[in-house]
Amino acid sequence: MKFFLNQVLASAFVTVVLAMMTASLYAQTVDWRQRGPEPAKIEGAGMSAAPSDAIVLFGGNNLDAWVTAVSEEPASWRIENGVTTVTPGSRTIKTKQVFGDIQLHLEWRPTAIIEGSGQSRGNSGIFLQSIYEVQILDSWENPTYVNGQAGSIYLQHPPLVNAAKPPGNWQSYDIICKAPVFGSNDVLRSPAYVTVIHNGVVVQNNVELQGATYTPMPEVGARCVPSAQEREQDCSGKMPLTLQDHGQVVSFRNIWVREL
Ligand code: MG
Repeated sequence: MKFFLNQVLASAFVTVVLAMMTASLYAQTVDWRQRGPEPAKIEGAGMSAAPSDAIVLFGGNNLDAWVTAVSEEPASWRIENGVTTVTPGSRTIKTKQVFGDIQLHLEWRPTAIIEGSGQSRGNSGIFLQSIYEVQILDSWENPTYVNGQAGSIYLQHPPLVNAAKPPGNWQSYDIICKAPVFGSNDVLRSPAYVTVIHNGVVVQNNVELQGATYTPMPEVGARCVPSAQEREQDCSGKMPLTLQDHGQVVSFRNIWVREL
């Protein structure tokens, strides 16, 4: 019996030693530390200023980066004191440049003069890829359907919290958007994902986008259109950003984007 126990202990000891030797050899051969490429060194920035590698879409002086969405005429929103304002009839605008994966910053301010209610109070919107609306609305004590309030992905995802400020105050959006990917047969391979930070608070946490936010919405898995028109999904995954004229007064400043 004693001999048998010694045999078992000896065999267990050999197994443990062999396992340790194998793990040690493995640790020596697999080095998980990545040596490159080095992340580019850039200068970070505070809430409103653009980092050094950002594309400034509106810096306060002109809307040269934008055109009117449908007609492609020069954008005609009012510019005053570093602020651009959409007023009824000034028409939706889009960027001349198209974007895929992005980090986007914008500051917006619904007018302090309260006239309408619900969707008719401080309504605008930033459309990612031209077709996914992150809703801009005066959501300070202004009930509406929850997937239509400020910070919502329109008609798809309500915000996690209501981080709205009283009307007349500047508010910020920091948005990270992963563009959709389409296969060679124009079929969706990976949908778009969006994170939205409203006034410093996460209100959308990497949510999946279920196609365009217009009604009727296409189903997930919808095909793209190779040479897309306004409000259609392009197959390249790169489309303009759009700022909405919804017939109310909303001001904007400090709009910049970083391509990821
Ligand atoms: Mg809107």
